[in-house]
Amino acid sequence: MSEEFQQLRRAARQVIETDRMLAGEFLAPGSPLPARKAAPPARNAAPPAAPAPARPAAGPGTGKLRVDPISPVLRTDEDRRKAAELEALEAGEVRGCTKCGLCKGRRNVVFGEGHPNADVVFIGEGPGQEEDKLGRPFVGRAGELLTKMIKAMGLRRDEVYIGNVVKCRPPGNRAPAAEEVEACHDHLIGQLRIIQPKVIVALGNPATHALLNTTTGITRLRGRWQPLPMLDPDLAGIKVMPTFHPAFLLRSYTEDNRAKVWSDLQEVMEELGIGKKG
Ligand code: SF4
Repeated sequence: MSEEFQQLRRAARQVIETDRMLAGEFLAPGSPLPARKAAPPARNAAPPAAPAPARPAAGPGTGKLRVDPISPVLRTDEDRRKAAELEALEAGEVRGCTKCGLCKGRRNVVFGEGHPNADVVFIGEGPGQEEDKLGRPFVGRAGELLTKMIKAMGLRRDEVYIGNVVKCRPPGNRAPAAEEVEACHDHLIGQLRIIQPKVIVALGNPATHALLNTTTGITRLRGRWQPLPMLDPDLAGIKVMPTFHPAFLLRSYTEDNRAKVWSDLQEVMEELGIGKKG
């Protein structure tokens, strides 16, 4: 069998695997979803309520939190206070922000969405085309995969918080430049200060570099807990788990990469008390 034929066969298998993954679950076929422990991911949550009635999704550019203040997901006064604080931050400082050049090409500021009192926050690098269009983070193919990863952890998307290092789309989906990350830094810190998560999952190199103030590559850092540098006294004690970005996983959908990400997520689950590694 020629080398060329083998390469074609490998490429075809990868396409089929990726399609299968997008149509199915993040976990390998036959893997059971983790049994969910009693500890809820959002703090101070009351016992599970009846399923929430379907709400219309927020439209692009509304600037509204995708978890609205009357949602049954917001069960406690603390949940509602934090939701209001996030909304005030978005409306007051972020929605009209022109602190860096990325404001010129954006259609929407993509502030972030999810539970305002979540124990785990997922941070990517910046909005892509679809996110810019809809004003929501992680809604393209990578977002679909992130949602499946969250589901594989036994969580729902509205039980975690999802955001990006920069809130406006870098042109051509390039990584954000250092000065753009720096300009948007206060917005991210403001969000984290309100949410006060236990754990941040840094998705990919740019997010890891921005959060940990390092240039070490994701391949070396992933899978090992890192302390969040002392950016702000209010954020002391938050732990960061770097892992591969879902977009990278889509491009390099190998069993090895998939197993590494799943191992990293299991570390997070163990830290949150919702699963055990192994
Ligand atoms: Fe402002 Fe951040 Fe958008 Fe730059 S990327 S304009 S700092 S919100």
